[in-house]
Amino acid sequence: MEKNLEKLWRSVLGEMEIQLSRANFATWLKNSQLTEEKDGTLFIVLPNNFAKEWVENKYHKNILGIARNFDDSVKKLEFVVSGQKMDAPKKISAETIKFENKINLEFKVDPESNLNPRYTLDSFVVGSSNELAFSAANAVIESVGSKYNPFFIYGGVGLGKTHLIQSIGNEIKSKYNGKIKTKYVSSEKFTSDIVWAIRNKRMEDIKKKYRDVDVLIIDDIQFIGGKEKTEEEFFHTFNALYENNKQIIISSDRPPQSIPTLEERLRSRFEGGLIVDIVYPEYEMRVAIIKSKLQNNNRELNDAVVELIANKVKKNIRELEGVINKIIFYQDMKNAPIGEKMVEEIIEKAIQNFTGRVSDSQIIKSVAEFYNVSIGDLSGRVRKKEIVEPRQVAMYLLRDILDMSYPYIGEKLGKDHTTAIHSVRKINHEINKNSSFFQKIITIKELIHKSK
Ligand code: ADP
Ligand code: MG
Repeated sequence: MEKNLEKLWRSVLGEMEIQLSRANFATWLKNSQLTEEKDGTLFIVLPNNFAKEWVENKYHKNILGIARNFDDSVKKLEFVVSGQKMDAPKKISAETIKFENKINLEFKVDPESNLNPRYTLDSFVVGSSNELAFSAANAVIESVGSKYNPFFIYGGVGLGKTHLIQSIGNEIKSKYNGKIKTKYVSSEKFTSDIVWAIRNKRMEDIKKKYRDVDVLIIDDIQFIGGKEKTEEEFFHTFNALYENNKQIIISSDRPPQSIPTLEERLRSRFEGGLIVDIVYPEYEMRVAIIKSKLQNNNRELNDAVVELIANKVKKNIRELEGVINKIIFYQDMKNAPIGEKMVEEIIEKAIQNFTGRVSDSQIIKSVAEFYNVSIGDLSGRVRKKEIVEPRQVAMYLLRDILDMSYPYIGEKLGKDHTTAIHSVRKINHEINKNSSFFQKIITIKELIHKSK
């Protein structure tokens, strides 16, 4: 098994990447390594004690589950801090070197701009679901700061928002030889910077950090909605940049008017710029993406298998990538082409991983969170208009994810079973005819998944 340790770890990381937010993944797992296996115990090395404790407490079970999925001889995990438990140096195989080079390329975030060079326009597959966003991105690169400001891009989880906005940053950096100062930040990081600055009375530093750039890229803006002080500071940063013709690029999982807690003045600012969406990719594009990912990994799969994947994995591109990584892993382990039946099994497992094991209260909580209504209202007898859709969606998801009985669903949400049946049908119907509604359901499912 030894020679496959790096492959195993690459596959586990691929899977963890699907499950965690990019920020979490980058913070906790990007510098991890699987260095040794002994009697079914995997030794995982983390860069410091803090990371070790965090990963041990939060991700132990997940990692073990995933590793066992790939290799059922795995029994236990041991987390160690690098330098603490280093056995005799191992011979480094050519494969390891290749793999490490790949990791370096993938994760070497530029400390100045915070951009990850792995995201390029070249590796971004364009199809009908994202071509508008793609050409808008190119237009922004051509005329930084002048015409399309702010550039606001929205769409569901895993559809390529981060990829696209980071690519814009990387492209601007190389096109203008680094003369245009570009900074990427997630809104979680932005928020934590503000909190830190307030606590340490260093607001001036933060102002300088974010206002002293030519291009500010801020990812997942929906997370700052409702955090008063952060929003206030973002608004001022926004205005300062905007008035000086600096480019602002924003991503969000929904359009500005649907971020319930976003302050009106900020919303109208966003609406004054260029707004485009990315939707989920249709079949042909999924095929194109699978082929491009295989090519990037120097792999091939026969057309029947590619079509099978495209048919079954519909949720988003991140999920597609996860499935492809897994298939590549199996292929390497077995050192033989992989059959359709095996692929089907892999997909089944991957998709189950995504939706399984949640409780009814997690579902209700996530729906309430998404629509910004209280759990009490949602599950009580309130007849407010704003509650109708969230309640129907909650009923639908209880059925869809947990396969609960209608009477039980009704009881959970303060209604009778006929209302539950009607609601589930209605949402089903809506999903089939309205793709942005479908997207909304996917976003909520993602929230549910994250709450696990
Ligand atoms: P989001 O930010 O919308 O949640 P990401 O940008 O993180 O989604 O995309 C998820 C994964 O899918 C990333 O690994 C990304 O590189 C890949 N991906 C997304 N869109 C495309 C695309 N059009 N072509 C190739 N890869 C893509
Ligand atoms: Mg993203």
